[in-house]
Parts: sequence; C-alpha cells; structure tokens
Amino acid sequence: MAYQKNSRISPPFIDHNFCTTSAAVTFLAIMIGLSLTFFGPQCLAQEIAPGPPPRLAADRHTDPKIAKAIEEVSPDRIRETIEKLVSFQNRSTISAQDEESIKAGRGIGAAREWIKSEFERYAKDCGGCLEVKTDAFTELPADRIPKPTVITNVYAVLRGADPQQANRIVLVTGHYDSRNSDTLNGTDPAPGANDDASGAAVSLECARVLSKAASNHLRFPATIIFLTVAGEEQGLNGSKHFAQMAKEQGWNLEAVLNNDIVGGDRSPHQDASVVRVFSEGVPAAATEAEIKRIRMLGGESDSTSRELARYVADVGRSFDTGVKPLLVFRLDRFLRGGDHYSFNQQGFAAVRFTEFRENFNHQHQTPRSENGIEYGDSPKFVDYDYVGHVARLNAATLASLAAAPAPPANVKMVTKNLDNDTTLTWEASTGAATYEVLWRSTSAPDWEYVQTITNGTRATLRVSKDNEIFAVRAVDPAGHRSLPAIPEPER
Ligand SMILES: [Zn+2]
Repeated sequence: MAYQKNSRISPPFIDHNFCTTSAAVTFLAIMIGLSLTFFGPQCLAQEIAPGPPPRLAADRHTDPKIAKAIEEVSPDRIRETIEKLVSFQNRSTISAQDEESIKAGRGIGAAREWIKSEFERYAKDCGGCLEVKTDAFTELPADRIPKPTVITNVYAVLRGADPQQANRIVLVTGHYDSRNSDTLNGTDPAPGANDDASGAAVSLECARVLSKAASNHLRFPATIIFLTVAGEEQGLNGSKHFAQMAKEQGWNLEAVLNNDIVGGDRSPHQDASVVRVFSEGVPAAATEAEIKRIRMLGGESDSTSRELARYVADVGRSFDTGVKPLLVFRLDRFLRGGDHYSFNQQGFAAVRFTEFRENFNHQHQTPRSENGIEYGDSPKFVDYDYVGHVARLNAATLASLAAAPAPPANVKMVTKNLDNDTTLTWEASTGAATYEVLWRSTSAPDWEYVQTITNGTRATLRVSKDNEIFAVRAVDPAGHRSLPAIPEPER
C-alpha cells in the first residue's frame, strides 16, 4: 500500500493550454524577447514543485459572510414552526382543505395557508426579495388517494442577483404532509413533528435566514428555491409533480437538498453529532449509453447526486454547523423512499438528509401508549438544537452553491493516446476566476487531491487517468467553489 501511495502522488507537473507543448514552448522562446507583455503570464506553463499535491481534506472554504448568516438560524424559531405545523392535528394529503377547516386551523389546507403566510412574512422582512408561489394540481384516485385531491406545493424564490446566472437554481425541500398508522386516515391526530415538520422547518428557516442575508450582506448570483411539498406519504406525489415541471420547463436545477426526518429523535442510541446524507450511485435517469460508460469506466460512485453529497461533506468541514454530514452511498434506507428520488428520476442531483438513528415507534404511528411503549411522532421527541444544526448545514450548502460560479461545462478527458498522463479540457464558467482539478483513487470515497489551475481551461497532470477519478470545479475570486463536473472521455 505504501509503495502504491507514494508512486501515485509523484509530482503532478501541470501544463496549461497549448503553452507547454514543445511547439508552443519554442514559439514562446522566440517571441519572448519581442512581446512578453503581449503574450503575458497566461501563456506560461505552471510548474508544480516536486512533492505531493495538496490534500483536499485539509482545505476549508469558509466564507465569513456565510458563516455569519448561518449563525442566525434559531432553534426557537424552528420549535415554533414545528409546533405550529403539529397544531393542525392531521396534515395528511387527504385531510380537510375546505375554507371552514382552514379557518378552524385543522387539516392540510390550514398548514398550506400558514406556510404561505410565513414565506410572505419573510418576503416582507427582506423588502420583497422572495417571490411566494404555489404549484397546485389535482391528483386522480390511486392507491392511497381515495378521491380526486388537490395537492399544493408551496415555495419561495430568492432570485439570483446576476442576470447571467439567475437561471441556475439550487433548492431545499421538506414535506409538510403527515400521516398516522393508517395512510387513509385524514382526521385522527397525525402530528408528524419529526416526519416531516422538521424538514419543512429547515426549508422555512433557510428561507428566513438567507433572504435576510441576501438583502443585507450576501450576494447570490444564482437562484435559491425554498420548497415545501405535500403528497409525500401518499406516494411522493407533490415532489413528482414539481420535478416534472422543472424538467418540462427546462430548469437549470443544479442541486436539491431534501430534508426528511431531521428531528434528531431523543432516543438513547441517537448520535446528534451527525446527519446522514443519502445519494444515489448509478443515476435513476441514466440512459443505456450512460450506464454502459459507467460500467466501462468505474463511474458507479460519481453521479451528480454523489458529487452533491461530497459537496455537503466539504461544507461540513468548512463551517461550524454543529453537525457533521455522514455520507451514505445509497439512494435511501431499506423499505423507505423520499422526495429526492422524484428529482433523481428527472435527472437532477438530489440528496436526502435524515437523522442518524430513527425511532420507528415515533413515525407513521397514531399517538398512543401500548405495553408501556409510547407511540406517535410528537414534538417532545424532537431535539430542536439538532434541527437547527441541520438547518445551518443546509443553509451553508445552499449559500455556498448559490454564491459559486456555474460548474464547468463540457469537461472532457483526452483519451486519444495510450499514455500515463491526464489531460482535461473544459469550457469557461461565468463568474469563475480559477479552476481546480480534483482527483482521488478509484477506491477512495471522497476527493483526495486538488490542483489549482490559475489560467486557461486545459490542464495536463502527470497522474495516470487509469488509476484515478478526476473532476473539475470552478472557483470565483472570493473562493466559492462550484459543484465538480466529471469529465467525459474524448478520443
Ligand atoms: Zn417523511
């Protein structure tokens, strides 16, 4: 192992653009006396000093403005949100949504109206920086939908400040519907404090904190959407509709953070220091040709969702959120699904945040006591500080992504010749000042090495493409990193 490690991290001499091909070097030597200033330093190859390249794990990308913004996340506000959502008694998608019930504060209609009013309050507080919207549709009878039912997703849009990049979208979501032991029961208590008032509260709290920051000291070139969906417990109906709309309308949706069961249930074996981040490996939306390439090149752990999960890990290292992301390389838990999958099915990068250890007596259960065991998803089992930490991690991830340049497009790995180097090319990203090539051993779970490319959109590394997995990401002048883009082989 030691031999492999040492040989693998031999000096990665880096070339930029055409400048280090022998012809270009000769050309440069001739021209150097005549017009050094014209060709300038952007044409000089960057030689990396011998020794191992920087280890990525040592990097922290902490924007103090983002760190300041996430400090505003309030566990007390989150508690108020969760208790308010629980107060509607039953938020099943098939529960009441008529005017009278809304007035009485009962059922999913009342929950929906309250979420809307809450987003509108944040919008007012930030001088109208949030646009509050609904995505409503009628679901026809199906397995868990006994009669035609209106399902309403409620969301707020924080439009990107750069007109050139405002079409780039990052999104956070949680589901505001709940259930008890019976999926077809829309009347008896279904508090859903953890599942998933906690996730809806994360989305709302991110909206409150980031909209405030955007109207104050933070600038996001890209758009952030704060979403709460319904229909999750009936079959992901709300998120399916929303993701399909995003796909049909051609949204440039870069990342989806789904928070479902992030209440940190106060059970003896809970580990409140971590939150699980689930991500799919082989993409649900991969075409036959893409699956063939994944099989050929060992790309099983490099879906855009997996890169998003690694990005969350990077954010977890960079900011003190109070909770560490624990990456789980799997779509979801056994016997369970979630709204991130609806986005995966449409080809979007989406991950799921869930507490470390779930207590199944406190989920999908009608509140009751049996043989000394307390069942039900009640607020008293929720750890509000924990939800606050998860909200901070989400807010830091959203802010980092929305502040960053677009990921490099058209990233290619040149595979014309049999050689032991790696040449990468890509298109310039709007807002980027430099780029970083990341790589790792094929058996490593996360990026290990990073090489900064200070000019140009092409690099050659003296590291074998056969032994490593590569990606390129864009970096803005303030050091915000984009999501990494995996190269496609080009012959
Ligand atoms: Zn749920």
